[in-house]
Amino acid sequence: MSAVILVTGGTGLVGKAIEYVIENEPQGSRFAKRPGEKWIFASSRDADLRDPKQTLELFEKYQPTHVIHLAALVGGLFANRERKATFLRDNMLINDNVLHTARIKKVQKVISCLSTCVFPDKIDYPLTEEKVHLGPPHDSNFGYAYAKRMVDVQNHAYKEEFGCNFTSAIPTNVFGPHDNFNLRHAHVIPALIHKCYLAKKNGTPFKVMGDGSPLRQFIYSRDLAKLFIWQLREYDDVEPVIFSVDENDEISIRDVANAIVEVMKYDLGAQFENEPNDNGQDRKPASNAKLMKLIGEFKFTPFKEALRESVAWFLDNYDNARTGHASN
Ligand code: NAP
Ligand code: GDP
Repeated sequence: MSAVILVTGGTGLVGKAIEYVIENEPQGSRFAKRPGEKWIFASSRDADLRDPKQTLELFEKYQPTHVIHLAALVGGLFANRERKATFLRDNMLINDNVLHTARIKKVQKVISCLSTCVFPDKIDYPLTEEKVHLGPPHDSNFGYAYAKRMVDVQNHAYKEEFGCNFTSAIPTNVFGPHDNFNLRHAHVIPALIHKCYLAKKNGTPFKVMGDGSPLRQFIYSRDLAKLFIWQLREYDDVEPVIFSVDENDEISIRDVANAIVEVMKYDLGAQFENEPNDNGQDRKPASNAKLMKLIGEFKFTPFKEALRESVAWFLDNYDNARTGHASN
């Protein structure tokens, strides 16, 4: 079967991981590149997807048959908290342009990427796919969360009115090579890797925001990449699928910081700022029961091993990584 698969956001954390798996997975693997497939990894330089004309030009250039739609304005707790209107508007524009253009250009299938941030803040745990719209999201990131939640509404509307095969994935917190390591605006793991690196280099304290008590589930970007490839080939339903490790595999931010200290061999240990307003959501444990039932078997990379690979990538690529330095 010939297919042109356009990955929007193809230069980010998740896009680079899909590219890695497609280039490196051995033939015979369920996730390997298949004959006849052409993969395109697009960045914002190829098209600013907030702009309908540039979006159309991108689709006309590559004529995709399938789209994995990852492009988004993305950031950690502090970026989301400071720029709610921008996170709402940019992501709504990007998603609207991509889905509308995919419909016009008769794309056979679109998978869009949501996040467990979209779920209601006050809800019975674990989070499951049918709970997305059952209450308001956490206040810290409602701009991003509502924009992303709307994708599920759009997918249903496009299916009912036009018969489109649009669906979505809901990953938990992601980390890995090619992450955004910005000190203020990144997610917790890349921000703390960078902070620990500077603390070790400069002999300064390694300061961690909040009190370390919140719990998160983390998925390695290269595991997530395989799940997107599975979903592209083997899942044809409008309802989202949560992409997560087991619901019992929550890790506290304290344990994350301590693991980073260990992997980076930083002798002085982490210091917690203890400002409770900086904790964000306490926890958001998600169930992967639907995923595991559908995929049958999947081996997640152990957290420490994935952290070691991510730190190694950061150290090897410090000059070109997204660290917030003037050049990147
Ligand atoms: P990322 O590393 O920040 O990458 C974002 C990607 O989107 C980049 O390729 C970027 O292009 C592109 N992009 C941003 N604005 C764009 C625009 N206006 N037009 C076109 N492209 C644009 O983000 P990520 O972590 O890989 O996130 C990928 C997806 O996963 C997102 O949908 C995100 O919401 C979701 N997600 C992420 C996490 C997480 O913990 N990281 C958790 C759950 C869900 P440039 O390289 O040109 O800037
Ligand atoms: P969230 O899962 O959407 O809240 O996203 P994050 O990846 O930003 O994780 C936020 C959690 O990590 C909160 O409990 C923060 O208090 C904690 N944290 C500790 N230090 C940092 C940091 O330097 N950056 C970020 N983003 N979070 C941090």
